[in-house]
Amino acid sequence: MPSKKSKGRKLQLAAIKKAFEPVKGRNCGSCTVCCTYFSIEALKKPPLVPCSKLKDEICDDGLNCTDYANRPKPACGYTCMWIRGYGAEEDRPDLVGVVLDDVLPIENALRAIPTSEGAQDTHEARLAVERVSRERNQTVLVCSYPERYPMRLIGRGVE
Ligand code: SF4
Ligand code: SF4
Repeated sequence: MPSKKSKGRKLQLAAIKKAFEPVKGRNCGSCTVCCTYFSIEALKKPPLVPCSKLKDEICDDGLNCTDYANRPKPACGYTCMWIRGYGAEEDRPDLVGVVLDDVLPIENALRAIPTSEGAQDTHEARLAVERVSRERNQTVLVCSYPERYPMRLIGRGVE
């Protein structure tokens, strides 16, 4: 019989897994930001280059990967905050130019990752950052473009 401790641990892991799943009603549509922006070691994909497995023509159905069933996991399992239900419908990363992320919190803050030089300064990006900061009641730190490790923070989106 599983101990109380291991049962509790399982429940905790299930809750974490659920928290990182896309919410019903949102899909990536024609956004391919994380398949372009991030480096994926398992695919030898450098950052800022579209993955070679992306479809030639991106449609709006969110099925943009030509080899989705065989994608390396968890490398390709990234879920941004938008797909998990944060922010408004119109805040999808490709539309506002920033990815809101809480996977690697710094100083217990969220991160806004610009997808192009200065993308964080547009009106749409600022609104998206403000909304998520309010929803989570957390500071958003704005990363430099392109994001490098160790990350260079260029400002605080919202305190
Ligand atoms: S950045 Fe978010 S919305 Fe865009 S492709 Fe990745 S998970 Fe989907
Ligand atoms: S393998 Fe598919 S899901 Fe993974 S980065 Fe490439 S296009 Fe995106």
